[in-house]
Amino acid sequence: MEPIIEKKAMNIARDKGKRTYRRMVVKFGTSLLTAGSPRLNQETIANLVAQVARLHTQGREVVIVTSGAIAAGRDKLGATRKRRDIPFKQVMASVGQNHLMYTYEQLFSRHNITVAQALLTKTDLADRAGYLNARNTLLALLELRAICIVNENDVVAIEEIEGTRFGDNDNLSAMVANLIDADLLMILTDIGGLYNADPHRNPDARLIPEVKRINRDIEQMAATTNSSLGTGGMATKIEAARLATASGTTMVIADGREPDVIARLAAGEAIGTRFLPITGKLESRKRWMLCGLSTMGKLVIDSGAAIALKKQKRSLLAAGIKHSEGMFDRGDIVDIYDTEDNYLGCGITNYSGHSIDIIKGTRSGKIGALLGFDYGPEVVHRNNLALV
Ligand code: GLU
Repeated sequence: MEPIIEKKAMNIARDKGKRTYRRMVVKFGTSLLTAGSPRLNQETIANLVAQVARLHTQGREVVIVTSGAIAAGRDKLGATRKRRDIPFKQVMASVGQNHLMYTYEQLFSRHNITVAQALLTKTDLADRAGYLNARNTLLALLELRAICIVNENDVVAIEEIEGTRFGDNDNLSAMVANLIDADLLMILTDIGGLYNADPHRNPDARLIPEVKRINRDIEQMAATTNSSLGTGGMATKIEAARLATASGTTMVIADGREPDVIARLAAGEAIGTRFLPITGKLESRKRWMLCGLSTMGKLVIDSGAAIALKKQKRSLLAAGIKHSEGMFDRGDIVDIYDTEDNYLGCGITNYSGHSIDIIKGTRSGKIGALLGFDYGPEVVHRNNLALV
């Protein structure tokens, strides 16, 4: 058996066998925290906090990613749901974040648990130093046994990073799982998981209990399933699952209103839709590369090169590259796809996009003559590759 297959099989076996998790990220969506109303629902939040507190007391490590700041701010300001522009949402988040944290602080203090707040933006994490600082802080908080409550820093968050949108805590929670190398990410919402059709409209809609690999069918299903108040609906949850599972984390989408759902999921019970990790634990640098925030371009490689990378653990050479996309420089992170548009992973390139346009498809020995300089035969060295 090829080593990569063996590794994957082991992972899945581990996930299927002893499904208890030690380090977890739990994400609460707005529609859950408000119980579908226009304001935070104290009873619901108290119940979720009590569940997290129980796990924490058992010695498990939990980080919370919470939404609800905008909803809380809107309620405090008496604003209607009509105004939905981003600058006004930022104002509401600023008011609501305080109220949200106050709520958590009060509720966790009943369990004698100290809470911390971390407001992160994707831009902070795209920077390697920012990623490492956030990681160090979150890990130190876990060690101190404080429960860190994370939200996007909505006041400064911008939409400009390609592929992300304002206020998407689903992707943020997968990034937090990636940061702290979590075993499990629970995305708790007001819907039972991923269905093959919209369960609100179709009574025959069937829950998908387990996803081994996210493919076009799964994306298609996500496009038809939607939750009411949440920012991203199912589509951002699937994006989050892509990142989480590529980082070696199991992810579950489940209904947060299920009794004792957090403890039951932490014990490995099959509730909602579980996405199995597609890779083992990766070193932190590779997880950061895979989080996609710093990706500057794309390389499409032929099938021979894809096999060399995946199965023979080789470096990517110019000969296997079909074409490149994007304006990237030497040292940037690029995504790697095969010709069927399957995502293989990413890597740090030794050549710019412009240079690759000249050397693609040629033997390494010709690089010097073609470019007038030579950074070595590897366009992406295997040590700088993070494959999924
Ligand atoms: N950060 C937003 C808030 O706290 C929520 C974003 C989301 O739900 O994805 O209100």
